[in-house]
Amino acid sequence: MILRAAAPRLRHASLSTVARRSTVCTPAAARHLSTSEEEPIERDSMEYDVVIVGGGPAGLAAAIRLKQLEETTGNEISVCLLEKASEVGAHVVSGNVFEPRALDELLPDWREDADAPLQTKVEADTFAYLHSETGAIPLPCPPSLHNEGNYVASLSQVVRWLGEKAEALGVEVYPGFSAAEVLYDDRGGVRGVATRDVGLNKDGSKGENYEPGMELLAKQTLLAEGARGSCSEEVMAIFDLRKNCDPQQFGLGVKEVRSRRPVLRCLQLVSISR
Ligand SMILES: Cc1cc2nc3c(=O)[nH]c(=O)nc-3n(C[C@H](O)[C@H](O)[C@H](O)COP(=O)(O)OP(=O)(O)OC[C@H]3O[C@@H](n4cnc5c(N)ncnc54)[C@H](O)[C@@H]3O)c2cc1C
Repeated sequence: MILRAAAPRLRHASLSTVARRSTVCTPAAARHLSTSEEEPIERDSMEYDVVIVGGGPAGLAAAIRLKQLEETTGNEISVCLLEKASEVGAHVVSGNVFEPRALDELLPDWREDADAPLQTKVEADTFAYLHSETGAIPLPCPPSLHNEGNYVASLSQVVRWLGEKAEALGVEVYPGFSAAEVLYDDRGGVRGVATRDVGLNKDGSKGENYEPGMELLAKQTLLAEGARGSCSEEVMAIFDLRKNCDPQQFGLGVKEVRSRRPVLRCLQLVSISR
């Protein structure tokens, strides 16, 4: 179970001893763009050592690793992970050829875990050039596209399973909560994130059920939102993190998941066409 039980703590943090009320510095204020009309928002807050935004493979792997370090050093590290999907894995694109090298490093015993959703090993690759609607020329598979030793999996299930691992290690995983704002300290450093306000009217004004989002403050804030995350884009712009970097590249592709019988035979073959 991914911390459904923990969510009320976040929702009703005002009842919690760790929660306190404070006035947050919004991104606009941090950039000295606030206007005199902008009212400071009073929010509940919780403090952690690390707040992770995004429960995809990157965020969950980081959360697990932090807790493993805790076991090694003996120092407790409080880790909170926000995932905007209603459950961990729900926003992760599923059909996936999975290269297990990083997982081998993170959880070396994963193959002994009967619940690991990585059961189907790729046994063969084919590579073909499609030259017409019905014709294809088989080609040798380039070494970089070989998948032997990899697994065919549902990444969404892998992520859900990683979420359970993280939770078992003591990570506070909060599905259904989106980081809507990055919070900055007086010196302009990132001090956490705030979850989305609820009960806003269509025009953005406060409705009668308005509740401000929650502040999650941390010594370290780790943005693992995937491609083009809103908090990540803002932080990259403010701190000029793209300076002297190659531009981000995006590719458009089509992924086809075919259901054929016998299912296992089909799943063990990865076929790439150009
Ligand atoms: C169509 C497609 C096919 C792919 N096939 C393969 C494949 O076969 N093999 C392979 O290795 N890789 C594949 N990939 C790539 C792989 O999915 C990504 O590399 C991987 O998911 C990136 O992990 P991530 O954790 O960085 O980001 P993501 O998986 O994108 O996870 C980010 C998570 O953060 C959450 N989030 C975002 N913003 C916020 C916020 N503000 N607050 C809270 N939560 C937030 C999202 O809901 C999401 O769950 C594929 C990708 C696509 C799109």
